[in-house]
Amino acid sequence: MTTTLDAPGLDVREDVRSFVGSSRQLFIGGSLVDAADGGTFATIDPATGMEITQVAEATAEDVDRAVKAARAALEGEWGALPGTARGKILLRLAELVEEHADELAQLESLDNGKPLPFAQYDISSVAEHFRYFAGWTNKIEGATIPTSIPNSLVYTRPRPVGVVGAIVPWNFPLLMATWKMAPALAAGCTLVLKPAEQTPLSALRFAELAAEAGLPDGTLNVVTGFGEVTGQALVEHPGVDKIVFTGSTAVGRIIGATAAKTVKPVSLELGGKSPHIIFDDADVEAAAAAAANAIFYESGQVCSAGSRLMVQQGIYDELVERVTAIAESLKMGTGLAPDTTLGPLVSEEQLDRVRGYVETGLSEGATAVTGGEAVDGDGYFFRPTVLRDVPDHVTVCREEIFGPVLVTQPFESLEEVAQRANATEYGLAAGVWTRDLGRAHRMAELLDAGSVFLNCYNAFDPAVPFGGFKQSGYGRDGGRDALEKFLETKAVWTNLA
Ligand code: ADP
Repeated sequence: MTTTLDAPGLDVREDVRSFVGSSRQLFIGGSLVDAADGGTFATIDPATGMEITQVAEATAEDVDRAVKAARAALEGEWGALPGTARGKILLRLAELVEEHADELAQLESLDNGKPLPFAQYDISSVAEHFRYFAGWTNKIEGATIPTSIPNSLVYTRPRPVGVVGAIVPWNFPLLMATWKMAPALAAGCTLVLKPAEQTPLSALRFAELAAEAGLPDGTLNVVTGFGEVTGQALVEHPGVDKIVFTGSTAVGRIIGATAAKTVKPVSLELGGKSPHIIFDDADVEAAAAAAANAIFYESGQVCSAGSRLMVQQGIYDELVERVTAIAESLKMGTGLAPDTTLGPLVSEEQLDRVRGYVETGLSEGATAVTGGEAVDGDGYFFRPTVLRDVPDHVTVCREEIFGPVLVTQPFESLEEVAQRANATEYGLAAGVWTRDLGRAHRMAELLDAGSVFLNCYNAFDPAVPFGGFKQSGYGRDGGRDALEKFLETKAVWTNLA
């Protein structure tokens, strides 16, 4: 059959062609296996709407096998390794990811649609996360605690939380999986990973590299499939000790409710409608470039996208003009084409969703300065869109669109903008541009957001916690906070008398 790789002029590496040249199997207990019922599904290139390859569709039975393999590794070889040995494997894995960076980046770009340089950045960040968390493996310590009881010795022993179910989205497929895998493995947990059905390929290739790095069989298992079947089976499984999830708030709520039935702890990194606030003393050129990047990078399919641009009245028109000019300069195309700066949306469903939001916004009174429509053709492209003078109460100002659609609004004062920025159900990220240091830190104090960016936007590092307030979720990826998520504390009491 014809696949997207047959498209003329597409420069695809031989190793990538070979990887997708046959249908991909599940990775369970260190082996590549078919789904129990032999089921598969197509993964699609969003730039052409054509199939890349078929991927195994895991059933509840496959999830059960994966959970049992993860349990066996936890109680077996992986669980017995001292932290330093775990760290060495994670360091080797970081090296292997770098050695295969071009291959992984092409797979990611093909499956997700993102421009290749963005995928290359993601993969380098994957390696850096494993390196950072490798450093924690031999620094996991308990405490000795003085108490009011005479002749007692009390100490704590942190231990891995156990078998982790990780469910991740399609926008940064391998990087989001890494945000869960790296700290979980550093803590000594084992995992069953469910990538998003839109982008299963990089995780499957990564699992092979993890085995090559020396990760014992069963430590990392990858089950590909859909949320309502594979994902749900993982959340319901009594053998899973914790669920970590990145995705939409709607699905996060379902996962939290399902996990409650087996009293499973859950960490949720969910959606956002993040305000990006520019005061009139800001460096306008830098702020405009950042404002455009904050919404058009990855076609706006970023949970912390700066999707609501709030600009102080005196420079509002200038900012809108500058951002519009940047939007109009973006080059849409397949992620693998060297001049592409704006890829497609990940799926037809996502394209319909974005189109629907923009139509609603226009009918509710917003004005499109540029964009506002999908591109005719086979791929899932939506024109970069800037909406101006958007009232606070309309749908596009309150809900997450997850597309290249920027809502812009003028504001007058600090107190007003802080209050309006916080008057949303989300609390993931916020950006502030001003040359006044006091004003910047006052805003950092006032804003309800898990990450506040001052004179920058969407900066990330493996050492820094990231996650949401309010309906944007709970728990943190990144840094020591992420490690703690995968540990639980045992208190040991000793009678010295
Ligand atoms: P989006 O809406 O942006 O596609 P989702 O939140 O739906 O993102 O998906 C994120 C991840 O959650 C995907 O891996 C998806 O398969 C999974 N998922 C979706 N629904 C469920 C569910 N009911 N239970 C478990 N996982 C789910």
